[in-house]
Amino acid sequence: MSESTDVLVVGGGLQGCAAAWALTGRGATGVTIVERATVGSGGTGKSSGVVRCHYGVASLAAMATRALDVFENAVDLLGDDIGFHQTSYIVGVDPENVEALHASVAGQRAVGVRTEDIDPTEVQKLWPVADLCCRA
Ligand SMILES: Cc1cc2nc3c(=O)[nH]c(=O)nc-3n(C[C@H](O)[C@H](O)[C@H](O)COP(=O)(O)OP(=O)(O)OC[C@H]3O[C@@H](n4cnc5c(N)ncnc54)[C@H](O)[C@@H]3O)c2cc1C
Repeated sequence: MSESTDVLVVGGGLQGCAAAWALTGRGATGVTIVERATVGSGGTGKSSGVVRCHYGVASLAAMATRALDVFENAVDLLGDDIGFHQTSYIVGVDPENVEALHASVAGQRAVGVRTEDIDPTEVQKLWPVADLCCRA
């Protein structure tokens, strides 16, 4: 390893590797990642790998939907099949939280998240084994 570098990224987790990848993609040449253990040994390696855009905070939803492009075009952008499968994501709430969910969904749509409201009948068709009965 050289003794000097233009950019030093501390930590070879998702954030560090993504930052280094984005910098080099924008023309930076001297980018070095230092990792105290092994790449992906932190939270990244423990992740369930769920990629979602449903976030109540609009800035998070915007970042997630922008990042989706990388997952969808990984072969072209990263040069490999990363095993990404889109299965959709269903969020259910109790009746008292429906209004809050609608507001959250509206905020997500405003930043480009592909999301829609469906009723329990449609959920049951998509997910026949789900027990959707409300409990007291
Ligand atoms: C069980 C679990 C399941 C999860 N499931 C999901 C999921 O389904 N979907 C999702 O989006 N997110 C999920 N997450 C969250 C996600 O994994 C983390 O938000 C993300 O991986 C964090 O990435 P990071 O690069 O910030 O941190 P990390 O992956 O923790 O990387 C930090 C790295 O820095 C290194 N480091 C720290 N200090 C130093 C130092 N001084 N010098 C050198 N190296 C150092 C560490 O060794 C580590 O490798 C999950 C997390 C956990 C724990």
